[in-house]
Amino acid sequence: MAAGTDLFAYGELHAGCTRCRLAEGRTQVVFGSGDPNADLMFVGEAPGFHEDRQGVPFVGQAGKLLDRLLEGIGLSRSEVYVSNVLKCRPPGNRDPQADEIEACEPHLFRQIELIEPKVVATLGNFATKLLSGRPLGITRVHGQEQEVSLGGRRVLLYPIYHPAAALYTPAMLKVLESDFARLPALLQGLAAAPAAPPPPAFVPEPAPPAAAVQVEAAAQLGLF
Ligand code: URA
Repeated sequence: MAAGTDLFAYGELHAGCTRCRLAEGRTQVVFGSGDPNADLMFVGEAPGFHEDRQGVPFVGQAGKLLDRLLEGIGLSRSEVYVSNVLKCRPPGNRDPQADEIEACEPHLFRQIELIEPKVVATLGNFATKLLSGRPLGITRVHGQEQEVSLGGRRVLLYPIYHPAAALYTPAMLKVLESDFARLPALLQGLAAAPAAPPPPAFVPEPAPPAAAVQVEAAAQLGLF
């Protein structure tokens, strides 16, 4: 309960934040939403158009997919906490810039400190790189949990693809679903079980082998 009160107070205190240039174009600060005592916290990239208008993270198309993925593992939005690396919308939804991330970082770390989640699932590259402190991209590290120190506590960092990236790519959606499926076990502290199978990699459609291309070309030329 204290976390909820403190988190709300922190959000109120920074509702007029002017730490970076994004203050100029935003409608409002989109601080975060959900259970302030959640064991599971998601960190996305930045508010988009709808989030900026409504003041709630992940309410657009990507948010609807996030809801469906949560439902698939028996959770609802009210049982987790959802936030972003940046609390204000970048103009035209452009990528966050390094100085904006640096300026906004204290807000995210304070949120983590107050919520005390067991698992922090980072959605996409920006959150993953920031919270892992490593430059490895999401394609390399998705589905691989690691213990890190965040907000003065050990938490399990769990990088997964950003739902927006899976909206129009069925192969990536499959990977996202399979990474999501491991969340309940991670929350129960079974992460260390050695038998966890490696997550499927997202592999773009392979080019046909050169021999197959030659055979097809030969067939088209009527060679057989
Ligand atoms: N994408 C994000 O990363 N965050 C949101 O809140 C919405 C879309």
